[in-house]
Amino acid sequence: SRSPASKKQAASVEFRNVTKRYGNVTAVDSVSFTIEPGELVTLLGPSGCGKTTTLRMIAGLEMASEGRILIGERDVTHLSAADRDVSMVFQSYALFPHMSVLENVAYGPAVQGIPKKDAYEMAMQKLELIGLKGLEKRAPSELSGGQQQRVAVARALVLEPQVLLFDEPLSNLDAKLRRRVREDIRELQQSLNLTVAYVTHDQEEALAVSDRIIVMSNARIAQTGTPRELYEEPADLFVADFIGDANIIHGEIVDTSGEVANVRIGGTTNIQLPRRGVGEGAVKLAVRPDAIALDDAAAAAGKITGTVRKASYLGTQMEYEVESPIGELFVVQYDRQDPIAPGTPVSISFATQRGIAIIPRA
Ligand code: ATP
Repeated sequence: SRSPASKKQAASVEFRNVTKRYGNVTAVDSVSFTIEPGELVTLLGPSGCGKTTTLRMIAGLEMASEGRILIGERDVTHLSAADRDVSMVFQSYALFPHMSVLENVAYGPAVQGIPKKDAYEMAMQKLELIGLKGLEKRAPSELSGGQQQRVAVARALVLEPQVLLFDEPLSNLDAKLRRRVREDIRELQQSLNLTVAYVTHDQEEALAVSDRIIVMSNARIAQTGTPRELYEEPADLFVADFIGDANIIHGEIVDTSGEVANVRIGGTTNIQLPRRGVGEGAVKLAVRPDAIALDDAAAAAGKITGTVRKASYLGTQMEYEVESPIGELFVVQYDRQDPIAPGTPVSISFATQRGIAIIPRA
């Protein structure tokens, strides 16, 4: 039987031009990526973009129509799920209702022919690890949603797979619990050095748990990067809009110098931004709400002007909708004591360049 001493190394996962077709629907279209050993990578995107199909192809629950899938050094493209050394935590948890918690977790090793006593020992060890000791005799129906989720994780971990997959693991939990469970998953992944692929459509969840995020749109990868890279340097309008909130405004690159672009906004304000491969001419910019500052003092010469159309009180901050020649803006301000009333003319400036990026692909 296996013991902790036989613990395997985390493995990488690699897709090489993988396509999946169902009849004439292309669910995944020539997708390539690598998940490094010990990395947590999220597949993020709107409903129907192909993220679940991608996850299921890692697991071997769907077979690729084209391309190659590697786990570590092994080409697993044609291997069945049972031969891939991958475990998956399903959205529904998929626990056996007639078995105890312990039996649920010990099921995988038992099916592999590991003697019952050893299988139970392995299961107990994982239940302890995940904070469920004392609940092993209960039926799944006697547990809370969060506890059932943990059982599903313990069951996925019990054979110490090379790769662990999560399919929207938090969707059956309430908002408060979701935050805690996602932190638990991240902690476990880091302390056990697990390679994890994680599917979600929730961008906030993806930003919080991931080493890197693969953003998918229409069966393809829109962009891959760290949470910070995606937020600060979105590759296109889709990513800018999908990751966090972004104002899309119009600007013009009036000249460039090396990697820096001199961007004119509203015909008056000039700012320096990384040019991101874009040359002179009209550009679109993604501006985070907190990168925009409003001033209701008499508009200074050379400033961009606008008019507040709506003011919303959000508790710790105010959000303003502003009409302006550079585009429709929403602006979040943290520091103002006295709210700006709708109808007030304002001047607009950019508080920080960190929240502003040239979008290379419109
Ligand atoms: P969601 O968040 O809604 O689960 P998703 O991003 O996970 O969406 P997929 O489930 O991977 O998307 O589906 C991608 C596309 O493939 C969709 O157009 C879907 O309708 C289609 N598809 C998925 N599974 C099948 C199937 N078994 N037969 C036919 N079409 C399928």
